[in-house]
Amino acid sequence: MNDDCYLLGSDAVPALYVPSRTGKSLLLHDGYTFYLKNLQAHGRKQWYCSSRDMAGCRADVITAPALSGDGDILFLVRGRHIHAPPSYYFTHDGKYVRRKDAYHRYR
Ligand SMILES: [Zn+2]
Repeated sequence: MNDDCYLLGSDAVPALYVPSRTGKSLLLHDGYTFYLKNLQAHGRKQWYCSSRDMAGCRADVITAPALSGDGDILFLVRGRHIHAPPSYYFTHDGKYVRRKDAYHRYR
């Protein structure tokens, strides 16, 4: 347990998902995006920072099904990002795209 690790208690924060360029859902939190890494017991999911591979960022999030209603909540948020939030924008068809990816298309 370290100071960068915090549990979210009664103030459940709904998990916000956005469709990525590849059609898979990304978790959006504090301007950072996370990709699905593991399915865990009790419907929990582990998400890794989208910059984990590129920047070596170790931040991760665990979501859990909301106790009431639909959707998931943020269950555990760990780590501190070692980079600025990525620059994203929504495409005309509602996809969430990283600026860098868009740039690469024009090479
Ligand atoms: Zn990160």
